[in-house]
Amino acid sequence: MNFGNWEENVHTDYEQIKRIAFSQRITSENVTVDTQKETAVITGRDGTYDVSLNHCTCYDFDSRQLPCKHIYRLASDLGLLEMPKPSRKAAKEFKDHVQDDVDHYKELYFNGAISIEKFNKIVNALLSK
Ligand SMILES: [Zn+2]
Repeated sequence: MNFGNWEENVHTDYEQIKRIAFSQRITSENVTVDTQKETAVITGRDGTYDVSLNHCTCYDFDSRQLPCKHIYRLASDLGLLEMPKPSRKAAKEFKDHVQDDVDHYKELYFNGAISIEKFNKIVNALLSK
């Protein structure tokens, strides 16, 4: 995925993946894209933000200086956001080995490394559809 002046590996950080997910929840009525200028005006709960592929006027961008959900939404609406394609083969491989992952977290729980709450959250996520 390559847009704006961002290094490609910026987008693989977990905090960035969360923002990519959040960007997809912004309703279309709140997004006005200028495809020529590659900018957008996005209305959020706390105001209206001026967004380009390199900058946003929201608090998240201001404090982190990394792409926020608004920048990802603009990139997505411009067709520049590449999402991984679902893979049956990779999904089957994951499913075939999910019990190993559960056993791993079970061991962490019984060793006192993680709480019962964390163990249950992780296992529920691993076993969910
Ligand atoms: Zn923003």
